[in-house]
Amino acid sequence: MIRVAVAGAAGRMGEAVCAAVDGAGDLDLTGRADPALGVELASVLDGCDVVVDFTRPDTALENARAALAAGRHVVVGTTGFDVEALRASAAEASANAFVAPNFAIGAVLMMRFAAEASRHMDAAEIVEYHHAAKLDAPSGTANRTAGLMEGDVPIHSVRLPGLVADQDVILGDVAQTLTIRHVTTDRTSFMPGVLMAVRAVAGLPDHLTVGLERLLWPE
Ligand code: NAP
Repeated sequence: MIRVAVAGAAGRMGEAVCAAVDGAGDLDLTGRADPALGVELASVLDGCDVVVDFTRPDTALENARAALAAGRHVVVGTTGFDVEALRASAAEASANAFVAPNFAIGAVLMMRFAAEASRHMDAAEIVEYHHAAKLDAPSGTANRTAGLMEGDVPIHSVRLPGLVADQDVILGDVAQTLTIRHVTTDRTSFMPGVLMAVRAVAGLPDHLTVGLERLLWPE
């Protein structure tokens, strides 16, 4: 059994992660940390093997460092924090960190197809659509998609109630456009990817691994 503690357990993503871990036969939900539950991450580190963090951009780095310092592996889904700042802490740690801006397998495929398409079409723009309570803009997924594509790719961010997390990559060339669209209908879309990372993180070759594609297509 892999023992899992969730940081941000009372949040939208954290609740979905707790339910997914609870429903997996090989995983044991040992801790739920969240200000709303009155439980600090430090108090659940002892009883777990892996911490999953879906909190806020201003706490994710601190939480990940605390997990690593305690010798716990950490899977981070929080977006909008400085991933490079985690690299030094991960290098010194005995445990591993895994970070993904998007745990939906369809979104990872979208990024791969967009990167390929950008090599063959003249220009591209990204439109990302998220629920109104999302704290960061542009989204981590949009930034990563643009980073993987050729050329300068402007990003437009839409924040509205009724949305979960969608993205269009629109490519244009002479007399044609191509749209690659990823749509999520609820947060369970992220759970297969989160559980994949929880199971894989201890065995990863590097102390810091970024992107679900590293698990889908290992080098
Ligand atoms: P949310 O509903 O606001 O949940 C975050 C929860 O974390 C809140 O309950 C918050 O409590 C709690 N929290 C804050 N500081 C904490 C700490 N130090 N320790 C433990 N818990 C703490 O947000 P969400 O919609 O679930 O999103 C969470 C993050 O996941 C965001 O960065 C979002 O962009 C990201 N996300 C990533 C993916 C992906 O695939 N990688 C997918 C969806 C969302 P308070 O409300 O009291 O601050």
